[in-house]
Amino acid sequence: MENKIKAYERECVDCRSCMKGCPMLYSFTISPKKLLTKFTTEIPSSQMAFSCANCGLCAHTCPHDIDFGAIFTASKKNYAEDKKVLKKYGYGGVIFHQKSSFSKLFSTTKKFTTGEYTHMAFMPGCALSSYSPSLVHTVFNYLQSKCSGIGIIQQCCGTPTRVMGDMAQFKIYHSQLEADLDKMGATTVVTACENCFMSIKTYAPHIKIVSLYSLLAQIGLPESAKDRHKNTLKMALHDPCPTRYEKEIHKDVRTLLAQIGLPFEEFKQNREKTLCCGSGGMLELTNSALAHEQMRTRANQTECESIVSYCQSCAESMSHGGKNGVHLLDLIFNPTFEMKQKEQGTLKKWYNRFTSRQMISALKDNT
Ligand code: SF4
Ligand code: SF4
Repeated sequence: MENKIKAYERECVDCRSCMKGCPMLYSFTISPKKLLTKFTTEIPSSQMAFSCANCGLCAHTCPHDIDFGAIFTASKKNYAEDKKVLKKYGYGGVIFHQKSSFSKLFSTTKKFTTGEYTHMAFMPGCALSSYSPSLVHTVFNYLQSKCSGIGIIQQCCGTPTRVMGDMAQFKIYHSQLEADLDKMGATTVVTACENCFMSIKTYAPHIKIVSLYSLLAQIGLPESAKDRHKNTLKMALHDPCPTRYEKEIHKDVRTLLAQIGLPFEEFKQNREKTLCCGSGGMLELTNSALAHEQMRTRANQTECESIVSYCQSCAESMSHGGKNGVHLLDLIFNPTFEMKQKEQGTLKKWYNRFTSRQMISALKDNT
């Protein structure tokens, strides 16, 4: 990284493009070049490093591909060697979340032994199972009706541990996920969560990863969902930042929105230019004030009162930012959805995950 930072420092023209839309750089500098000069002799402070949301916008915007996110990620990995530093940034909460997420109480798998798609597993992700067990299971029932033999895995991908920089622990969690998928014989994973998508794509390249939204565009939507929203008030569409460069997902999500008839508008910064919703990099834990500021900033970049996304964390962030955050899956699979997610506390969310886990355990093999 040292050599890279020296090259970055030489190339930077101090145009400040990287600061536009970044939740944190403006809090620490008015000159990215000066910051890079400083980094040639000292690593970023822990406060600065843990204020980065890992959204990738700076590298995308910079005319010289200078990647502040990579610098801060490397710094977090350094700091993670001292758990006392990590704990200052809320790591205690991440440890609890991750131990629970990987425990038998909240995770499970179900493999089906007959059908054309026994090599596939649906992975809803933590946020969706915490939000709505019934939505997870409605989606899964539909997938089963179209892809006979598809299994399901309720498991975390380990992203919270990774973004805190604790790579040793992340490797342990990721191996557990890979071992569970291996036991299921799952060589293809269908994800509803954009963090799971990128994590598996990056750290388990031997597994084929498919976005649920691309699969739905391919297999088609339930008849009852088609044109259901042609009289719904216009919403804005927020693209989650982990899948910034996944053009197929962007296209497929828009196809699904067209099929359900939802009038929607694009944010000015959309697709690969999208902004962090405020929850990237565990920012709510590491720098809550910045996280909430970013949530408000993004939510208020549209006149629409409702913002639809295809990531549950993004939908919640848009609600925290003062608008009505909606998940695309509710619009497709929940005919009684009242166009507003219910506010749920932490305990209720863990209870939902437990309920979803129990529902998976109760599924019967189709032999
Ligand atoms: S966008 Fe790139 S060149 Fe411009 S200030 Fe930022 S790092 Fe420097
Ligand atoms: S990755 Fe995102 S939050 Fe981090 S420095 Fe770049 S733009 Fe800012």
